[in-house]
Amino acid sequence: MTVEHHVLNPATEELVRSVPATTPAEVDAAVGRAAAAQRKWAAAAPADRARLLRRFAVVVDDHVEELARLEVLEAGHTIGNARWEAGNARDLLDYAAGGVERLNGRQIPVPGGLDITVLEPLGVVGVIAPWNFPLPIAAWGTAPALAAGNAVLLKPAETTPLTALRLAELALVAGLPEHLFQVLPGAGDVAGNALVEHPGVAKIVFTGSTRVGKQIMAKCADRVKRVTLELGGKSPNIVFADSDLDAAVAATPMSFLDNSGQDCCARTRILVQRSVYDRFLDLLAPAIEAVVVGDPADEKTQMGPLISGTQLDRVRSYVPDDVKAIRGTAPEGPGFWFPPTVLTDIPPDAPAAREEVFGPVAVVLPFEDEEDAVRLANATEYGLSGSIWTRDVGRALRVSRAVQAGNLSVNSHSSVRYWTPFGGYKQSGLGRELGPDALAAFTETKNVFISTEA
Ligand code: NAD
Repeated sequence: MTVEHHVLNPATEELVRSVPATTPAEVDAAVGRAAAAQRKWAAAAPADRARLLRRFAVVVDDHVEELARLEVLEAGHTIGNARWEAGNARDLLDYAAGGVERLNGRQIPVPGGLDITVLEPLGVVGVIAPWNFPLPIAAWGTAPALAAGNAVLLKPAETTPLTALRLAELALVAGLPEHLFQVLPGAGDVAGNALVEHPGVAKIVFTGSTRVGKQIMAKCADRVKRVTLELGGKSPNIVFADSDLDAAVAATPMSFLDNSGQDCCARTRILVQRSVYDRFLDLLAPAIEAVVVGDPADEKTQMGPLISGTQLDRVRSYVPDDVKAIRGTAPEGPGFWFPPTVLTDIPPDAPAAREEVFGPVAVVLPFEDEEDAVRLANATEYGLSGSIWTRDVGRALRVSRAVQAGNLSVNSHSSVRYWTPFGGYKQSGLGRELGPDALAAFTETKNVFISTEA
């Protein structure tokens, strides 16, 4: 019997489409086809591979609006965000294409001969993506892996396979070889697990929860399979009294409400210096109440629904009705809606202050001085992102160095730029994606010594 995953529109709970789930036998067949395609791809001239990837980027560019509309339907993303996401996939392909002809090894001085290193593709790479940013995260793994000469098997999340499936169709329209990039929708513990356990898959790039990431890492260890992990976060937004407070407040709502808070980089721990704490809260309340929550297809909407009923239940469990909070508004009726919420009176060790809620919920906590701010910021098992608001350059640099996280921004909440490396400290992950070294993560370094004395 064929198992199907039902893709629901999170804003209406209506069925968008049902997608058949890939079985382990089908994963096995896909690996075989991908391996054959990869051998030819790796042997092709670098300029030809680069040209095809650039063409892929152009085809994606021609379909940005269509991909964005699909992302709105299956993931409930606001249309503005969804356009950015489709554009990000295009930009990644373009950027990675630029690396194909620059994937240089080194020549290292040694006695008795010449020593060179060669960066060779790994083979078949499995990319396992989450539902929160289906399209960009699929592209983060896929674009550099293809550029470095690998084949890619992409397993999208059960709830959001549609943009990934369309991306694979567009790859063929662009002229990429058949089977080089295949999308295998299905259950994590079936299709995803089959990729993780398959001896023909050389590397797993996993983005998702820390819980599943640990299981995958353990399985990869068994085979010494390469693995990159992009996991959870509980990132601080540190506001010092010497900051431009109006700017810090204005930027705070969307720093944790973007994508309805379903963002691994969401700044969900707002840490505010005690001397400006009350003023910060007075200014924050109207800013939270003003956030426009509603139909994600409406251009004016700033925040859409959560992805699913399961996620809604999870978020609700962190916010009891009687808890002290600043609350925004959300639509009633069908759809997985939860209002913007800032918990204003909970201890730093409460679950909502420590665990990743993955919804539009932040906590605000006071701190005394720089040392206290750093202590609170680091009091988490995660280390993905963080922001520091101050006008003091020395403090900005000191705190940036002291906070244990992979992606920090000063007087901004920016985390993801395809030009710069992205990844987590501690239990937020292992390895880095994006940036100038993205292709290298999909290669093995081979060292060759050539004797001049024979
Ligand atoms: P998840 O871990 O439940 O699932 C992620 C993916 O893994 C899905 O495709 C799922 O089908 C698959 N999967 C599940 N079990 C598996 C198994 N046993 N073997 C192989 N694959 C399996 O996570 P989610 O709920 O889809 O995503 C939310 C999480 O992702 C959050 O914790 C968030 O912080 C994290 N995330 C991290 C980043 C980052 O870059 N660090 C980015 C986005 C999301």
